[in-house]
Amino acid sequence: MLGDQLSRSLGALRAATPATHRVLVVESLAKLRSRRWHRQRAHLVLASMRRFVAELRGEGFAVDHRVAPSLAAGLAAHLVEYRPERVVATEPASWDGLRLLRRLGVELTPTDQFLCHPSEFAAWAEGRRRLTMEDFYRWQRTRLGYLMDGDQPAGGRWNFDRDNREPPPTDGRAWPAPAVSPLDALDAEVLADLDRWGVTTWGADPDGTWPTSRAEALRRLDRFVAEALPRFGPHEDAMLAGNWHLAHSLLSPALNLGLLHPAEVAGAAEAAYRRGEVPIASAEGFIRQVIGWREYVWGLYWWWMPGYRAENALGADQPLPPAFTGAAGTDMRCVRVTLDTLERHGWVHHIQRLMVLGNLCLTAGVDPWAVTTWMWASFVDGAEWVMLPNVIGMALHADGGRMATKPYASGGAYIDRMSDYCAGCRYDRARRTGPDACPFTTLYWDFLDRHRERFVRNARVAQQVRAADRLADLPAVRERAAEVRRLLAAGQL
Ligand code: SF4
Repeated sequence: MLGDQLSRSLGALRAATPATHRVLVVESLAKLRSRRWHRQRAHLVLASMRRFVAELRGEGFAVDHRVAPSLAAGLAAHLVEYRPERVVATEPASWDGLRLLRRLGVELTPTDQFLCHPSEFAAWAEGRRRLTMEDFYRWQRTRLGYLMDGDQPAGGRWNFDRDNREPPPTDGRAWPAPAVSPLDALDAEVLADLDRWGVTTWGADPDGTWPTSRAEALRRLDRFVAEALPRFGPHEDAMLAGNWHLAHSLLSPALNLGLLHPAEVAGAAEAAYRRGEVPIASAEGFIRQVIGWREYVWGLYWWWMPGYRAENALGADQPLPPAFTGAAGTDMRCVRVTLDTLERHGWVHHIQRLMVLGNLCLTAGVDPWAVTTWMWASFVDGAEWVMLPNVIGMALHADGGRMATKPYASGGAYIDRMSDYCAGCRYDRARRTGPDACPFTTLYWDFLDRHRERFVRNARVAQQVRAADRLADLPAVRERAAEVRRLLAAGQL
């Protein structure tokens, strides 16, 4: 059993019994030492694994729970010690993991951790000219039956985006506080082990926000549906300096580790809508994230791997900004607030990822693989299957538009509309030249100009490219953009 398959009812474990199976769980030192993980991320995985092992033992399973130099070394030692007739596992969630287990001769049971298996996604994708999220989402809704009234979408529309995406409210309202679980001796032992093993981590210690057992994850799901989901939709894209979670579910880490299944999460949201407790715009917006976006990203990962890792269509070669690793500060308030939140919680929401961090890296031309691996290690819900399509495809347009039909580039105006960041910033979001110009605004126009030939042929951005052509101060914008990129790379912006 791998560390992101923590469910008794999934794949190979579903049919296992204490009388017939011994469970092997390996804590791989090579994996732990492979990246500079956020401390809450490393803790979350190990603590969740150890609690699940305790649950299996409580059920009567013999569990060979070992710390080993690598997964392969752990399996080899297990084979020597126990000489099992067969070794069976659930298909891993990573390309490298799948290749490794196949090479080691492990029998694989198809994964049912998602609603759409990669083979089903392949059957859907085969022969399509474009793989749009909206087409995939409607296919998922129809075949799985979520939010459907007969063959029609509940509420009469497939998509309630135009009711959502509102700017942040200015009434100073309170947002539902996330549930917190007290930390215990097991958590302390995990943190001590990370230090003892020389695992390099960054970020604040865990504070109990992220559930490390199924029972705690279910408690978070109930609380989200009752308290936050009714308010989720309208402000799902909004950003506030004084509140890090707004009405977001914070369930992605539990989903990605297997503590929750997407069917029960989407089902709970739909049931609340059917009971009249949640407006359709919030229910649809949330269910779209779970059965649409999340599954679409999962499917694309398997459909496009392994070549997808090397995509860099825009030739982006700038280093990761030192501010992202804590090696420098930044005066860009939107970036500073986002990175501070990441440091404290190991999590920021999708618009902070896409339109602050991703947008900056896109328009500054930061190397896509550097951004991917940084996000993978820095977020509590990080995994290669999540980050590759979201970073290479969606945020950085490094796949040349295979996934997203337009680059998600914007100047300071978008961030100002969707947040309260700009009012307290030392930069001026409306200026594009000069030392006080908002770096996002400068880089946005320069990005359109630098990639003019590619994007002038794209109907969704051609108008903005032509607007860049008409800027009287374009030479000064180019000059300031070169300076901004230099300062960003030097950690002086
Ligand atoms: Fe960010 Fe620009 Fe707004 Fe400052 S002015 S917070 S850098 S968007």
